[in-house]
Amino acid sequence: MTIEQLARNNVRQLTPYQSARRIGGNGDVWLNANEYPEATDYQLTQQNLNRYPECQPVSVIQRYAAYAGVKPEQVIVSRGADEGIELLMRAFCEPGIDAVLYCPPTYGMYSVSAETLGVERRTIASKSDWQLDLPAIQAALDGVKLVYVCSPNNPTGNLINPADIRELLAMTQNRALVVVDEAYIEFCPEASVVSWLAEFPNLVILRTLSKAFALAGLRCGFTLASEEIIGLLLKVIAPYPLSTPVADIAAQALSEQGIATMRQRVTELNARRDNLKKTLAECRAVTQVFPSETNYLLFSLNDSDKAFKALWEKGIILRDQNKQPGLKGCLRISIGTQRECDAVTDALKTY
Ligand SMILES: *Cc1c(COP(=O)(O)O)cnc(C)c1O
Repeated sequence: MTIEQLARNNVRQLTPYQSARRIGGNGDVWLNANEYPEATDYQLTQQNLNRYPECQPVSVIQRYAAYAGVKPEQVIVSRGADEGIELLMRAFCEPGIDAVLYCPPTYGMYSVSAETLGVERRTIASKSDWQLDLPAIQAALDGVKLVYVCSPNNPTGNLINPADIRELLAMTQNRALVVVDEAYIEFCPEASVVSWLAEFPNLVILRTLSKAFALAGLRCGFTLASEEIIGLLLKVIAPYPLSTPVADIAAQALSEQGIATMRQRVTELNARRDNLKKTLAECRAVTQVFPSETNYLLFSLNDSDKAFKALWEKGIILRDQNKQPGLKGCLRISIGTQRECDAVTDALKTY
């Protein structure tokens, strides 16, 4: 056997996640990963790297629970929300038997994690307004253990109607978990469904420090759910999922000061997004800029391939969404600094 043949069949077939960093490019204006455009300074306070870290660092858990308004027992911290997506599959889905369901166009990691683990992927395209097609979901629920709902949705930027999430939770009660991915919820905090945890035992919420907290490089995310679900996830998580420096910085980011800074950032960034939306809409090549509750905008243009390449050649890297179902001719732009936003609109005006 060749080494290739020794690998699991589903791994041989796997298309890895096309992360913004893997795509490459020589840009100096990086607007393709929904990162915060500027770094915050942090100092390490602990000098004990000879010791293994805590599995679930208490100060991080306590601070996140207080921030989110849940009990510490309802929180698990992991290596980004991406690890949370996968922990759920590992705890709930039997490969070859159970399925996960999600609604494209949406975040790519639900698919990649399921494929890696050999879990069936069932997709129900969202409706033309990017809302859930509830009757189609209901008809496809057989064997489904997890339904991933991204709200606000990446890459479209819209919120999923809360009434529809409620209906989905009711429809799946005692059958499947509904995982609401709130990676961008800090940009529209009033839309969180976190208060519904008390009401729905099958609700799970994913959060991250990568977006509004400006810490994508830290790799720190949270899963919020009932104590029972968190207990099951704790069974399958690695013994030391977070390194000591990560826990140290995460606790600082979740201090009162850290949260106040994050909220300040969100206010500025939302204002810049609304301005960029107007400026983009005035560019001749741009046909539509979609409403967004997040730190990115999805927009469509004539000959988006040409525009993407023209920007790329100027060192401005956006995210091409052409291949996603229903997003032909669409690009996604993360809200950068004012200078970066201006560079994009200037380049688009002359293109
Ligand atoms: C960025 C993102 C994540 C991943 O967050 P990490 O904490 O960086 O792993 C999860 N879900 C969505 C929708 C995202 O856009």
